[in-house]
Amino acid sequence: MDVYGLLGNPVTHSLSPPMHEAAYRELGIDARYVTFEPEPEALEAAITGADALGIRGLNMTIPFKREVLPLVELDELADRIGAVNTIDFDGRPTGHNTDAAGARRALEHHDVDVDGARAVLIGAGGAGRAIAFALADAGATVTIANRTEERAVELATAVPRATGHGLDDLNDLLANADVLVNATSVGMEEDRSPVPTEALTRHLTVMDIVYRPLETRLLRDAREAGAGTIDGAWMLLFQGVEAFERWTGQEAPVEVMNETLRGELSGESGAFK
Ligand code: NAP
Repeated sequence: MDVYGLLGNPVTHSLSPPMHEAAYRELGIDARYVTFEPEPEALEAAITGADALGIRGLNMTIPFKREVLPLVELDELADRIGAVNTIDFDGRPTGHNTDAAGARRALEHHDVDVDGARAVLIGAGGAGRAIAFALADAGATVTIANRTEERAVELATAVPRATGHGLDDLNDLLANADVLVNATSVGMEEDRSPVPTEALTRHLTVMDIVYRPLETRLLRDAREAGAGTIDGAWMLLFQGVEAFERWTGQEAPVEVMNETLRGELSGESGAFK
Protein backbone atom coordinates (compact mmCIF):
# COMPACT_ATOMS: atom_id res chain seq x y z
CA MET A 1 0.00 0.00 0.00
CA ASP A 2 1.27 3.49 -0.90
CA VAL A 3 1.03 6.30 1.64
CA TYR A 4 0.54 9.97 0.85
CA GLY A 5 -0.17 12.75 3.28
CA LEU A 6 -0.53 16.33 4.37
CA LEU A 7 1.81 18.07 6.82
CA GLY A 8 0.48 21.11 8.65
CA ASN A 9 0.02 22.44 12.14
CA PRO A 10 -2.80 22.56 12.84
CA VAL A 11 -4.50 20.42 10.19
CA THR A 12 -8.19 20.90 10.82
CA HIS A 13 -10.96 19.48 8.66
CA SER A 14 -8.68 18.90 5.68
CA LEU A 15 -10.53 18.09 2.48
CA SER A 16 -7.48 16.45 0.89
CA PRO A 17 -7.87 12.93 2.40
CA PRO A 18 -11.39 12.32 1.05
CA MET A 19 -10.55 13.95 -2.30
CA HIS A 20 -7.39 11.89 -2.90
CA GLU A 21 -8.81 8.65 -1.54
CA ALA A 22 -11.83 8.97 -3.83
CA ALA A 23 -9.37 9.12 -6.73
CA TYR A 24 -7.46 6.02 -5.48
CA ARG A 25 -10.72 4.09 -5.22
CA GLU A 26 -11.86 5.18 -8.66
CA LEU A 27 -8.61 4.03 -10.30
CA GLY A 28 -8.10 0.94 -8.11
CA ILE A 29 -4.89 2.32 -6.57
CA ASP A 30 -3.93 0.68 -3.27
CA ALA A 31 -3.11 3.81 -1.29
CA ARG A 32 -4.07 5.94 1.70
CA TYR A 33 -3.83 9.71 2.29
CA VAL A 34 -3.30 10.74 5.90
CA THR A 35 -2.70 13.96 7.83
CA PHE A 36 0.28 14.66 10.11
CA GLU A 37 0.83 17.50 12.58
CA PRO A 38 4.53 17.66 13.42
CA GLU A 39 5.80 20.40 15.71
CA PRO A 40 7.42 23.13 13.58
CA GLU A 41 10.90 22.30 14.93
CA ALA A 42 10.45 18.66 13.87
CA LEU A 43 9.86 19.46 10.19
CA GLU A 44 13.27 18.30 8.99
CA ALA A 45 12.95 15.03 10.90
CA ALA A 46 9.46 14.58 9.46
CA ILE A 47 10.72 14.96 5.86
CA THR A 48 13.69 12.65 6.43
CA GLY A 49 11.45 10.16 8.22
CA ALA A 50 8.83 10.23 5.46
CA ASP A 51 11.56 9.54 2.90
CA ALA A 52 12.96 6.65 4.99
CA LEU A 53 9.49 5.14 5.47
CA GLY A 54 8.77 5.15 1.75
CA ILE A 55 5.97 7.73 1.84
CA ARG A 56 5.30 8.53 -1.81
CA GLY A 57 4.21 12.14 -1.55
CA LEU A 58 3.36 14.92 0.89
CA ASN A 59 1.40 18.13 0.68
CA MET A 60 2.45 21.06 2.85
CA THR A 61 0.18 23.62 4.42
CA ILE A 62 0.52 26.37 7.02
CA PRO A 63 3.11 26.87 8.55
CA PHE A 64 5.39 24.68 6.43
CA LYS A 65 5.12 25.96 2.85
CA ARG A 66 8.14 28.23 3.20
CA GLU A 67 9.93 26.48 6.07
CA VAL A 68 10.41 23.40 3.91
CA LEU A 69 12.30 25.30 1.18
CA PRO A 70 15.84 24.56 2.46
CA LEU A 71 15.01 20.91 3.20
CA VAL A 72 14.20 19.68 -0.33
CA GLU A 73 15.33 20.08 -3.93
CA LEU A 74 13.15 22.66 -5.66
CA ASP A 75 11.69 22.66 -9.12
CA GLU A 76 12.04 25.91 -11.03
CA LEU A 77 8.53 27.21 -10.31
CA ALA A 78 8.57 26.48 -6.56
CA ASP A 79 11.95 28.21 -6.41
CA ARG A 80 10.59 31.32 -8.14
CA ILE A 81 7.41 31.42 -6.03
CA GLY A 82 9.32 30.73 -2.83
CA ALA A 83 6.81 28.20 -1.51
CA VAL A 84 6.28 24.43 -1.70
CA ASN A 85 2.93 22.71 -1.26
CA THR A 86 3.79 19.30 -2.78
CA ILE A 87 6.80 17.02 -2.28
CA ASP A 88 7.57 13.89 -4.23
CA PHE A 89 9.95 11.24 -2.95
CA ASP A 90 10.81 9.76 -6.33
CA GLY A 91 14.58 10.07 -5.91
CA ARG A 92 15.64 12.97 -3.71
CA PRO A 93 12.70 14.73 -2.00
CA THR A 94 11.68 17.48 -4.44
CA GLY A 95 9.37 20.41 -3.77
CA HIS A 96 6.77 21.71 -6.22
CA ASN A 97 4.03 24.32 -6.11
CA THR A 98 0.73 23.01 -7.44
CA ASP A 99 -1.25 26.05 -6.17
CA ALA A 100 -0.05 27.93 -9.26
CA ALA A 101 -1.19 25.21 -11.67
CA GLY A 102 -4.36 24.81 -9.60
CA ALA A 103 -5.31 28.44 -10.22
CA ARG A 104 -4.38 28.24 -13.91
CA ARG A 105 -6.36 25.06 -14.46
CA ALA A 106 -9.38 26.46 -12.57
CA LEU A 107 -9.46 29.38 -15.01
CA GLU A 108 -8.88 27.12 -18.05
CA HIS A 109 -11.66 24.81 -16.91
CA HIS A 110 -14.01 27.80 -17.13
CA ASP A 111 -12.69 28.75 -20.60
CA VAL A 112 -11.04 31.92 -19.32
CA ASP A 113 -8.25 32.82 -21.73
CA VAL A 114 -5.59 34.42 -19.57
CA ASP A 115 -3.09 34.97 -22.39
CA GLY A 116 -3.05 38.71 -23.07
CA ALA A 117 -5.69 39.35 -20.37
CA ARG A 118 -5.56 42.19 -17.86
CA ALA A 119 -5.73 40.50 -14.47
CA VAL A 120 -6.16 42.12 -11.08
CA LEU A 121 -5.00 40.00 -8.17
CA ILE A 122 -5.94 41.02 -4.63
CA GLY A 123 -3.61 39.59 -2.01
CA ALA A 124 0.13 39.07 -1.85
CA GLY A 125 0.35 36.32 0.78
CA GLY A 126 1.35 32.72 0.12
CA ALA A 127 -1.49 31.89 -2.27
CA GLY A 128 -1.29 35.32 -3.91
CA ARG A 129 2.38 34.78 -4.75
CA ALA A 130 1.65 31.47 -6.51
CA ILE A 131 -1.29 32.96 -8.45
CA ALA A 132 0.71 36.02 -9.53
CA PHE A 133 3.29 33.76 -11.21
CA ALA A 134 0.58 31.51 -12.65
CA LEU A 135 -1.20 34.47 -14.28
CA ALA A 136 2.01 36.02 -15.60
CA ASP A 137 3.35 32.71 -16.92
CA ALA A 138 0.06 32.21 -18.77
CA GLY A 139 0.54 35.57 -20.51
CA ALA A 140 -1.54 37.99 -18.39
CA THR A 141 -0.59 41.49 -17.32
CA VAL A 142 -0.90 41.31 -13.54
CA THR A 143 -1.97 44.18 -11.31
CA ILE A 144 -1.42 43.18 -7.70
CA ALA A 145 -3.33 45.02 -4.95
CA ASN A 146 -2.71 44.29 -1.31
CA ARG A 147 -3.70 45.76 2.07
CA THR A 148 0.01 46.09 2.88
CA GLU A 149 1.05 47.88 -0.29
CA GLU A 150 4.79 47.18 0.11
CA ARG A 151 4.13 43.44 -0.13
CA ALA A 152 2.36 43.94 -3.46
CA VAL A 153 5.13 46.19 -4.77
CA GLU A 154 7.79 43.71 -3.66
CA LEU A 155 5.98 40.75 -5.28
CA ALA A 156 5.51 42.77 -8.47
CA THR A 157 9.27 43.20 -8.82
CA ALA A 158 9.64 39.40 -9.11
CA VAL A 159 6.70 38.77 -11.47
CA PRO A 160 6.95 39.63 -15.19
CA ARG A 161 4.62 42.45 -16.40
CA ALA A 162 3.29 43.10 -12.88
CA THR A 163 2.68 46.24 -10.84
CA GLY A 164 1.98 46.56 -7.12
CA HIS A 165 -0.65 48.76 -5.44
CA GLY A 166 -2.66 49.31 -2.27
CA LEU A 167 -6.36 48.51 -1.99
CA ASP A 168 -7.48 52.16 -2.19
CA ASP A 169 -7.06 52.23 -5.98
CA LEU A 170 -9.23 49.16 -6.67
CA ASN A 171 -11.95 51.06 -8.54
CA ASP A 172 -9.43 52.49 -11.01
CA LEU A 173 -7.45 49.26 -11.26
CA LEU A 174 -10.58 47.29 -12.15
CA ALA A 175 -11.88 49.76 -14.71
CA ASN A 176 -10.28 47.95 -17.66
CA ALA A 177 -9.69 44.50 -16.16
CA ASP A 178 -10.76 41.17 -17.68
CA VAL A 179 -10.08 38.89 -14.70
CA LEU A 180 -10.19 39.48 -10.94
CA VAL A 181 -8.78 36.98 -8.43
CA ASN A 182 -9.27 37.34 -4.68
CA ALA A 183 -6.36 35.70 -2.84
CA THR A 184 -6.97 37.40 0.49
CA SER A 185 -8.74 35.68 3.36
CA VAL A 186 -11.46 38.37 3.34
CA GLY A 187 -14.86 36.71 3.08
CA MET A 188 -13.85 33.70 5.15
CA GLU A 189 -14.48 34.90 8.68
CA GLU A 190 -17.31 37.27 7.88
CA ASP A 191 -19.78 38.14 5.14
CA ARG A 192 -17.58 40.86 3.67
CA SER A 193 -16.09 41.52 0.23
CA PRO A 194 -12.65 43.02 -0.42
CA VAL A 195 -14.00 44.79 -3.55
CA PRO A 196 -16.41 47.75 -3.71
CA THR A 197 -19.61 46.58 -5.43
CA GLU A 198 -19.49 49.42 -7.96
CA ALA A 199 -16.12 48.19 -9.26
CA LEU A 200 -17.67 44.92 -10.49
CA THR A 201 -18.96 44.78 -14.07
CA ARG A 202 -20.33 42.14 -16.41
CA HIS A 203 -17.07 42.29 -18.40
CA LEU A 204 -15.17 40.61 -15.55
CA THR A 205 -14.55 37.01 -14.60
CA VAL A 206 -14.16 36.85 -10.81
CA MET A 207 -12.38 33.96 -9.11
CA ASP A 208 -12.43 33.84 -5.30
CA ILE A 209 -10.01 31.32 -3.79
CA VAL A 210 -11.75 31.38 -0.41
CA TYR A 211 -13.71 28.10 -0.25
CA ARG A 212 -15.24 28.31 3.24
CA PRO A 213 -17.90 29.44 2.50
CA LEU A 214 -18.13 28.45 -1.16
CA GLU A 215 -20.42 31.34 -1.97
CA THR A 216 -18.61 34.42 -0.70
CA ARG A 217 -19.98 37.93 -0.61
CA LEU A 218 -17.60 38.82 -3.46
CA LEU A 219 -19.01 36.07 -5.69
CA ARG A 220 -22.58 37.05 -4.85
CA ASP A 221 -21.84 40.69 -5.72
CA ALA A 222 -20.06 39.62 -8.90
CA ARG A 223 -22.98 37.48 -10.04
CA GLU A 224 -25.40 40.33 -9.35
CA ALA A 225 -23.20 42.59 -11.50
CA GLY A 226 -23.45 40.04 -14.33
CA ALA A 227 -19.80 38.92 -14.05
CA GLY A 228 -18.63 35.33 -14.52
CA THR A 229 -17.75 33.60 -11.22
CA ILE A 230 -15.41 30.78 -10.18
CA ASP A 231 -15.51 29.58 -6.57
CA GLY A 232 -12.56 28.56 -4.40
CA ALA A 233 -13.19 24.83 -4.62
CA TRP A 234 -11.96 24.84 -8.23
CA MET A 235 -8.42 25.88 -7.34
CA LEU A 236 -8.43 23.49 -4.39
CA LEU A 237 -9.55 20.70 -6.72
CA PHE A 238 -6.94 21.36 -9.39
CA GLN A 239 -4.00 21.76 -6.99
CA GLY A 240 -4.96 18.28 -5.74
CA VAL A 241 -5.35 16.98 -9.28
CA GLU A 242 -1.85 18.27 -10.13
CA ALA A 243 -0.33 16.64 -7.04
CA PHE A 244 -2.14 13.36 -7.77
CA GLU A 245 -0.90 13.28 -11.37
CA ARG A 246 2.67 14.14 -10.37
CA TRP A 247 2.73 11.41 -7.72
CA THR A 248 0.98 8.60 -9.57
CA GLY A 249 1.83 9.38 -13.20
CA GLN A 250 -1.85 8.76 -14.00
CA GLU A 251 -4.52 11.12 -15.26
CA ALA A 252 -6.64 12.13 -12.28
CA PRO A 253 -10.37 11.30 -12.18
CA VAL A 254 -11.29 14.98 -11.97
CA GLU A 255 -15.07 14.47 -11.88
CA VAL A 256 -14.92 12.08 -8.93
CA MET A 257 -12.52 14.31 -7.02
CA ASN A 258 -14.73 17.34 -7.69
CA GLU A 259 -17.89 15.57 -6.56
CA THR A 260 -16.20 14.36 -3.38
CA LEU A 261 -14.81 17.79 -2.57
CA ARG A 262 -18.13 19.53 -3.14
CA GLY A 263 -19.96 16.84 -1.19
CA GLU A 264 -17.66 17.43 1.79
CA LEU A 265 -18.01 21.21 1.56
CA SER A 266 -21.78 21.14 1.25
CA GLY A 267 -21.94 18.96 4.38
CA GLU A 268 -20.22 21.69 6.39
CA SER A 269 -22.05 24.48 8.15
CA GLY A 270 -21.98 27.63 6.02
CA ALA A 271 -22.25 29.79 9.13
CA PHE A 272 -19.45 32.20 9.95
CA LYS A 273 -17.37 31.32 12.98
P1 NAP B 1 -1.63 34.51 3.90
O1 NAP B 1 -0.30 34.16 3.35
O2 NAP B 1 -1.80 34.70 5.36
O3 NAP B 1 -2.10 35.88 3.15
C1 NAP B 1 -3.29 36.53 3.54
C2 NAP B 1 -3.61 37.63 2.53
O4 NAP B 1 -4.88 38.22 2.89
C3 NAP B 1 -2.60 38.79 2.54
O5 NAP B 1 -2.53 39.36 1.25
C4 NAP B 1 -3.27 39.76 3.53
O6 NAP B 1 -2.85 41.11 3.35
C5 NAP B 1 -4.71 39.62 3.14
N1 NAP B 1 -5.63 40.00 4.19
C6 NAP B 1 -5.86 39.37 5.38
N2 NAP B 1 -6.81 40.02 6.09
C7 NAP B 1 -7.19 41.10 5.34
C8 NAP B 1 -8.13 42.16 5.52
N3 NAP B 1 -8.88 42.24 6.65
N4 NAP B 1 -8.26 43.08 4.55
C9 NAP B 1 -7.53 42.99 3.41
N5 NAP B 1 -6.61 42.01 3.17
C10 NAP B 1 -6.44 41.09 4.12
O7 NAP B 1 -2.74 33.44 3.48
P2 NAP B 1 -2.78 32.52 2.16
O8 NAP B 1 -2.16 31.21 2.47
O9 NAP B 1 -2.26 33.31 1.02
O10 NAP B 1 -4.35 32.26 2.02
C11 NAP B 1 -5.25 33.30 1.67
C12 NAP B 1 -6.67 32.74 1.51
O11 NAP B 1 -6.68 31.85 0.40
C13 NAP B 1 -7.19 31.91 2.68
O12 NAP B 1 -8.56 32.17 2.84
C14 NAP B 1 -6.98 30.47 2.26
O13 NAP B 1 -7.93 29.59 2.84
C15 NAP B 1 -7.22 30.58 0.77
N6 NAP B 1 -6.52 29.57 -0.02
C16 NAP B 1 -7.26 28.86 -0.92
C17 NAP B 1 -6.63 27.93 -1.71
C18 NAP B 1 -7.43 27.14 -2.70
O14 NAP B 1 -6.91 26.15 -3.24
N7 NAP B 1 -8.67 27.50 -2.98
C19 NAP B 1 -5.24 27.70 -1.60
C20 NAP B 1 -4.52 28.47 -0.69
C21 NAP B 1 -5.17 29.41 0.11
P3 NAP B 1 -1.56 41.68 4.16
O15 NAP B 1 -0.36 41.29 3.33
O16 NAP B 1 -1.79 43.14 4.20
O17 NAP B 1 -1.56 41.03 5.52
